[in-house]
Amino acid sequence: MWQVVGQTRTVSLLRRSLERKSLAHAYLLVGPPHVGKMTLALNLAQALNCEATERPCGECVACQKIASATHADVQVIGLTKDDNSGEAKLRTEIGIDQIRQMQHSASLPPFEGKYKIFIIEGAEFLSIEAANCLLKTLEEPTGKVIFVLLTVNDGLLPATVVSRCQRLELAPLAVTEVEAALSSRWGIEPQRAKLLARLSHGCPGWALSAASDDSLLSQRAEKIDRLLEAIDSDYEERFVYATQLAAQFIQNRGVVQETLDLWLDWWRDLMLIKIGCDDIITNVDRLATLVEMVKGYRLAQIRAFINSIQAAGEQLRQNANPRLVLEVLMLDMPGKESRSREKLATRLSVKNG
Ligand SMILES: [Zn+2]
Repeated sequence: MWQVVGQTRTVSLLRRSLERKSLAHAYLLVGPPHVGKMTLALNLAQALNCEATERPCGECVACQKIASATHADVQVIGLTKDDNSGEAKLRTEIGIDQIRQMQHSASLPPFEGKYKIFIIEGAEFLSIEAANCLLKTLEEPTGKVIFVLLTVNDGLLPATVVSRCQRLELAPLAVTEVEAALSSRWGIEPQRAKLLARLSHGCPGWALSAASDDSLLSQRAEKIDRLLEAIDSDYEERFVYATQLAAQFIQNRGVVQETLDLWLDWWRDLMLIKIGCDDIITNVDRLATLVEMVKGYRLAQIRAFINSIQAAGEQLRQNANPRLVLEVLMLDMPGKESRSREKLATRLSVKNG
């Protein structure tokens, strides 16, 4: 059975290709993080090497070895730890040395299975030399070798590489589909399944990680609390927070981007509640806070700040000065300051009127 959640069209396409023995020799799986690209790639590797008649069975020796990453003919290539740096930092690209090793291995016949499968995780990180080297292999297909490239953005890959692969797009699932899978397949209790599914934005892998690792939810809680604190602070305190975030950004861009995504979810929820769509909000566990908070805002204010968050995210992606961008965002954030300013203005106009 195919383990990947949803993606029925892609799975049936692969299944038909397997039945007709008309597989491509290279696939490019494109989709957001945690949507199921690696699961699908491993499922395909299992289907190709499975010893049962209903493939992939998930139970034969080959299927089990592939699931536990111990099958000699299934290799995953991705960003590795840099052994030369003292603290074993993650390398920033997939190097040509890794692709050369892969090519050598691909030139040998399968060791224990029927097919050799090479999965390149984060293909957008291939260095230019590595991508050119890979291209040669993709141009000269060999019988029992299949390459599966995984990427969040195929626009970052050379067009020559993309054109040699069969491109399959994995879209995020409906939140209800993730919720149903969490309950029925993993036995997660309904309330938790609902929250995790909403927070996953349709990417089941995230929900499963959060289900088994409490730190993801506690980090989220901390970030929300910090956001609420900033909303209620004066500009001086907000600027301290902006400076902290800017310093964090220099260390790890991803973390700050995640923070902004979380802010976006929060303010979108406020907008949804404002227009009466409480049932589709993301932060279902914070409904009471959101409902209370929304009373202090006009819809136009919420919309304007959503635009500001999106603009800030875009500016950071384009390498604008992080501190400046985040300080402007703090100024734009409607909170205690703007509410009290508005109250003051109303009071003055009443007085003057
Ligand atoms: Zn099997």
